[in-house]
Amino acid sequence: MGRFTGVILLVACQPDPSPVLRRAALPAQSATGFTGLSQQAHELRMRDGFSSIELSLPDNTLSFLVEVEGELDAEYLIDRLEGPPGALVVEAPETEAGQESGLGAAAGPFFSPNRSVAARGGTTLLVPNDPFLEVFGGTYQLGLRSSLGRDHSVQMRLWVQTGSAYPLRCRLPVHIHRPPPLADDAGVERRVLAAFEEMEAIYRAAGIDVSLAGLHRQEQLPTELPSPSVDLQSYHAAFARGQSGLNIFVVDALGDEDPALGGYASAIPLSARATSRFSGVVVALGFSDPAREEDLLAYTMAHESAHGLGLFHVQEFAGWEDPLADTTPGEGENLMGVLARHQDRNLSPSQALVMRSHPLCRSSGLDD
Ligand SMILES: [Zn+2]
Repeated sequence: MGRFTGVILLVACQPDPSPVLRRAALPAQSATGFTGLSQQAHELRMRDGFSSIELSLPDNTLSFLVEVEGELDAEYLIDRLEGPPGALVVEAPETEAGQESGLGAAAGPFFSPNRSVAARGGTTLLVPNDPFLEVFGGTYQLGLRSSLGRDHSVQMRLWVQTGSAYPLRCRLPVHIHRPPPLADDAGVERRVLAAFEEMEAIYRAAGIDVSLAGLHRQEQLPTELPSPSVDLQSYHAAFARGQSGLNIFVVDALGDEDPALGGYASAIPLSARATSRFSGVVVALGFSDPAREEDLLAYTMAHESAHGLGLFHVQEFAGWEDPLADTTPGEGENLMGVLARHQDRNLSPSQALVMRSHPLCRSSGLDD
């Protein structure tokens, strides 16, 4: 995502933060990884911009993904998620960083141990998005708020992964979609496939085995999309044609912003569904010069897809750092810097484990 989603919520009083259980080291990992994946669906009624729900998760829960679909013209934010004692997830404490951030009600969730951000049309959350946080099964209280004051219903889906260890590796099938003029251009195809191969190498080093599941010609996909900050409708239309796996849409340009926008992830994290409004990442060919050795297409595909698998920038333009212990702004040539640079290809162990916890990346323990 080029920027933190616009936040239009107001500050409210909050209770004291609850204690957080942090591990001393990364959690146990195995070749099998997650052995169970279950789904839940709930309808929530928003009243005066708020709703809450009690969720019941299996005892051996290690990770879960929440997707909320609401009204397209409203913003949504999971601003509280508390589990069994110590399994803190999201809360809204008043902190100095929050006060100074100008993020309003989004500050607490953003600076929570498990960061949560607002999005338009709904929201998503991956737990944990810091693998040093302890996650247990049991009863969780989830609080949701919306910028829309009118009473309305929203749909919540939940994917819960269980087992006794996190995955050392996982498999990520990728579908690439292009509008007809780009699909028919052999030079563009070579460039896209070369970038995909480079993305494969970047992800392999992070324990993620990416494979090209399909290269699609999408008749209705425009060659140039409007800026996502102006109009998301054509993005939703494109995402509605997604297929099972991670969907990457390749176009020429995303609006005419200056500086140019290289890519866009529809959410951090993406939904695990193929066709939700939070199911796609988009990259722009026009962002960098294909003739130069510094073609940024592979970097952009890998970077936006990593947002989609749950990663934030190591440091945002505003100076806010990610909550991960093993990333340092400006060091390590990290894939998740805010400035696109060809040599930034590395992912830290914590970042890689967050990505491997997203249900789009499949643990071998989930195979029959
Ligand atoms: Zn980014």
